Parts: sequence; structure tokens; C-alpha cells
Amino acid sequence: MTLADLKHILIVEDEEHLRLGIKYNLEAEGYEVSAVGDAPAALALLESHARDVDLIVLDLMLPGMSGYAFCERIREQGHDMPVLILSARTLAEDRIRGFDVGADQYLQKPFDLDELISRVRNLLARSRRFTPASLRGGELDTYEFGRAKINFTTFEVAVDGKPVRLTAMDMKLLRYFIEHEGKVLTRAELLAGVWDQPGSLTTRTVDNFVMRLRKTFEPDPAEPRHFLSVRGTGYRFVAAGESAAAAGAEQAS
Ligand code: CA
Repeated sequence: MTLADLKHILIVEDEEHLRLGIKYNLEAEGYEVSAVGDAPAALALLESHARDVDLIVLDLMLPGMSGYAFCERIREQGHDMPVLILSARTLAEDRIRGFDVGADQYLQKPFDLDELISRVRNLLARSRRFTPASLRGGELDTYEFGRAKINFTTFEVAVDGKPVRLTAMDMKLLRYFIEHEGKVLTRAELLAGVWDQPGSLTTRTVDNFVMRLRKTFEPDPAEPRHFLSVRGTGYRFVAAGESAAAAGAEQAS
């Protein structure tokens, strides 16, 4: 096995015993692990390009720059590796904010190390499956709707001709919607079809990701024309675009 085959995980955690404990356990699983105590050190490591980072385990409550701000920053910089947030905070709004800044999963402290390892393994397996190479030969290479152009082979997405950044999970959800164009999809169906561990997530996760797709693709996210809410059920993707009036009763309040 060469170094390139080893998955490289970055841990950002200020509590030393926890940082070292997670590092030790992930290394025991065969991962290469870098561990830092604050966000600026993590940013420096990412900017050094010494070694690609495949996944980040991120504490939210960090001295100086918060985990939220860090996550937002790296997504703005175009990094799209999975981010697993660790946090003692239990408020639902914290979790939502985490997803809003581009985190993929959220694990509440205190957590079981086996649970952490299982989440890491799943996130890495998912991102490996969802690579341009794995999509080659599939029917869906490029797709256009509304003002958007999507290339599922190169991961290039443009809205009004301007490139936009989507995370691997955003792309996976978008692809699922496109493959089921016009069909009403329940939140449970979306969770099962797009996320690997629907049991560990709530349907609010789906709502948060749809909100992000709307922000990216809808001319007016408050009046969606493509990612329509179906009251009490879920969502429906309409490529041609539907006016709020035509969608009528389907529009959520
Ligand atoms: Ca902390």
C-alpha cells in the first residue's frame, strides 16, 4: 500500500486528551491522521498542500475561530471533503447551523469511539463512491435546468454561467432529485436514497440540504420553482420550473 492509498484524516480538537484519543484510535484503524488544536493550524495545514485531507473531524467549540467559521471558510475555499462535527452542544439550531455551513454529519459529545469510527468509515466510503470515476459510464453526465448547468463527471456546476461550489452530499442529493424528476419524494425516501445512515439523522437534515440547493439554484429561494415543497410529504424537483401559482397547494407556507 502506498501513501496515496492511505486515507488522511484531519482532527481539529482543542481538548488534548480527546484529540490524542481520537488520533490513536483512527490510526489503529489504518488511517493517516493529523491532529491540531485550533482552526488556524488546520487552515495552515490545508493551505500547505503537503498532503490531501480526505476527511475532517471538527470540534465546534474551539478557542479563537469556531468550528462553524472554519467549516464555512474551507467550503468557501472550495474544499469538499466530508466534515464530521463533534460537539457538546445539543441545541437543534446548532446542528442546523452546522449543516448550513457545509458539515456532513454531526456527532454529539460524549460519543462512543466505535460510533465515531463507523461514521468516519461511512463518510469515506461514500465520498469514494461518489467520485467522477465512479460516475463514468453512467447515463447522467451533464444536465441543465433553469439557469443551471451541471457536469456530474467533472463536478462542475454553473448558475447563470458562473461556477458554484457544491459539496459531495449536495451533488448526491441533486443527482437523486434529477434522477427522480417530477416525482414526489418523501423526506424518508430522500434520507434512505441519499444518506447512508438515515437512522442517525432526522428529516430536518433533508430540509437543510434542500434549503441549500434552493439558495444555489433558485432565482428566489423563498419562491422555489424547481425544488418544490409538497406539504406534509417532502419535495418534488421540476426541471422546467413551475411558478408558485401553478404549483398551487403544493407550495409550503
Ligand atoms: Ca472544544
